[in-house]
Amino acid sequence: MKVTELTGLPDGVPEHLESEGIEELYPPQAEAVERGVTEGESLVASVPTASGKTLIAELAMLAAIERGEKALYIVPLRALAGEKASAFERFEAFGLSVGVSTGNYESDGERLANNDVIVATSEKVDSLVRNGAAWVDQLGCVVADEVHLVDDAHRGPTLEVTLAKLRARVSDLQTVALSATVGNADELAAWLDAELVDSDWRPIELRTGVHYGQALHLDDGTTRELPVERGESQTAAIVRDTLHDDGSTLVFVNSRRNAEGAAKRLASVVSKQLTDDQRVELAEVAEEIRAVSDTETSETLASAVERGAAFHHAGLAKEHRELVEDAFRDRLVRTVCATPTLAAGVNTPARRVVVRDWQRYDGDTGGMQPLDVLEVHQMFGRAGRPGLDPYGEAVLVTDDHDGLEGLFEKYIYADPEPVRSKLAAEPALRTHVLATVATGFATTREELLDFLDGTLYAEQTDEAGRLAAVTDDVLAYLDANGFVERDDGLRATETGHLVSRLYVDPMSAAEMIHGLREADAETTPLGFYHLVSRTPDMYELYLRSGDREKYTELLYEREAEIPGSTPSEFSEGEFEDWLSALKTATLMEDWTEELDEERIAERYGVGPGDIRGKTETAEWLLGAAERLAGELDLDCVRAVRDARKRVDYGVREELLDLAGVRGVGRKRARRLYRAGVEDRSELRNADKSTVLGALRGRRKTAESVLAAAGHPNPEMDGVTGDPDAAP
Ligand code: ADP
Repeated sequence: MKVTELTGLPDGVPEHLESEGIEELYPPQAEAVERGVTEGESLVASVPTASGKTLIAELAMLAAIERGEKALYIVPLRALAGEKASAFERFEAFGLSVGVSTGNYESDGERLANNDVIVATSEKVDSLVRNGAAWVDQLGCVVADEVHLVDDAHRGPTLEVTLAKLRARVSDLQTVALSATVGNADELAAWLDAELVDSDWRPIELRTGVHYGQALHLDDGTTRELPVERGESQTAAIVRDTLHDDGSTLVFVNSRRNAEGAAKRLASVVSKQLTDDQRVELAEVAEEIRAVSDTETSETLASAVERGAAFHHAGLAKEHRELVEDAFRDRLVRTVCATPTLAAGVNTPARRVVVRDWQRYDGDTGGMQPLDVLEVHQMFGRAGRPGLDPYGEAVLVTDDHDGLEGLFEKYIYADPEPVRSKLAAEPALRTHVLATVATGFATTREELLDFLDGTLYAEQTDEAGRLAAVTDDVLAYLDANGFVERDDGLRATETGHLVSRLYVDPMSAAEMIHGLREADAETTPLGFYHLVSRTPDMYELYLRSGDREKYTELLYEREAEIPGSTPSEFSEGEFEDWLSALKTATLMEDWTEELDEERIAERYGVGPGDIRGKTETAEWLLGAAERLAGELDLDCVRAVRDARKRVDYGVREELLDLAGVRGVGRKRARRLYRAGVEDRSELRNADKSTVLGALRGRRKTAESVLAAAGHPNPEMDGVTGDPDAAP
């Protein structure tokens, strides 16, 4: 089917697609259109990675907008929201406007109301629904990207409940669910009352295999020589072989550290084959990477990129990730070592994909677990660039002869697993049951169970009564903590309403309320950081070897500062948890004591992206704690607010006022302070040359900072920086 034959889209869209090189629909896309995706039909598309699922969603959304409705696109990762939104912005010429919803959980509802397409994570959508965002009722189409993630124990239930809730609230809502190839796409379609496109078509041939010994064993039964030189790893040999054929390689490993290590080693393989021109271009990319930040990670990345290799993981700053992706697409960087989480959504095809690690550490069991077939196949799917490579090749590696056979059975010939709902787990139900009651979706136990009946869990379970039993446990928990009342029917209390709107796990809220009640004059910011770090909403830092002793000692030194009672050392799990929370809290403390990001990263063995992730979570939770303390009329509100602001800005107390001025931030605030400008009002009246000197002669910055502080005449014309002010 030609794109020009498409109907129901805004004028000019088919021609625009043509101009992008999309002339003919791929077969699964054509099938989706035949099944009515541009006429408002719900659809599950279970299609391999990189086979054009996004266009199916775009057609559905554009058609909905042409009908005068709004569309919502649910992304699996916050990091992908921006990328998707910019992709949709190319249709803005056809009258469509795109909004991204990230950041603060509570706000945003109104700003988004003016957009035709809204891009958000399922957590964000859930929160907007809880806060009564009115645009939800104008939705005509919702897209769920990577819907197979309903299987994820941590985040799946939110996606599942959000879809169920949107569908219960908006009648005839078109639901377009995009999925990697899974074992039970038909069940997903039955759950969503949707048409099904279940295909394994790919735009480029994919060959899969396993490297063992000196050869590549392929799925068609053939073997090709691929010798490994002395002292070289199998992965290095494959990268070398691919380069020989002028191709690029994407290597999947199981941790950030391994990604960095592998990139370093593989850089020496790539580096040998670079031309002088390539070196010059790579050096430019490396400079851009260094310009993003002066952390150790930045330097490690830059020096790998100089030699033609890179790593890519969620601990990297967004700017770093984008530079790596662009340089890989431009074929400057020829090898990228990535962790699976992030690479799944990023469109970076390569001639060859190597899945080096097919096991990863599992925090829940404390051991190594094999990856799902589904995940490995998604990585495989990144092999081959349509129209550019003759074919794609995806390989696993093993150095064990018995493993060869095993890997074929396990990943090459195996079908992907079926997707199973994880909703019946208690933490998931806790938060969703409270929300369902608080939003008035369910006013009785029966209505609640009725709503839960619209979930995938209900579609899949054959264990009668299980969902009702867990739901009852959860209701009892919410009741005991004062979040719901169950006299005649179900009702959320004031606190329960607040907890639901704040989007914290009710268990986190209960822990925080308990701690806030015990906070006293001895409680310090560290104490509040500990309080939020020990909730289930914070991913705590792991204890490494030696940490147990170190933090036990610190705990007894600073126990009085922490609200709540320390668990007994004999209750292993709980005590350990308390120490992990302390380690996390000391990271916050270092951040608010203005320690350099690089030093913090080194001290805790984390990346700069992690520091930001942790401090953002802490800021959000402290904001929630502040609201709870206010609701309960507790004296500690102010202290919590200051702790929150300090985490937000990453500064000591004396800089709180100054760092709050737009464009200032922690480093500039400190320089201004040292130059004698101590708060906002002093900045407003400051001597311009002092400010310019403190800001290291950056005129534009100085002007905008002065303007933000309310300076009557911020222009810097003719002002020279006071060199004495430069710290
Ligand atoms: P998926 O979402 O299935 O992983 P994408 O939607 O990212 O895959 O598509 C992969 C690539 O294929 C994109 O670069 C996209 O522009 C391109 N593409 C999609 N449909 C077509 C088509 N009909 N003709 C040519 N290229 C297409």
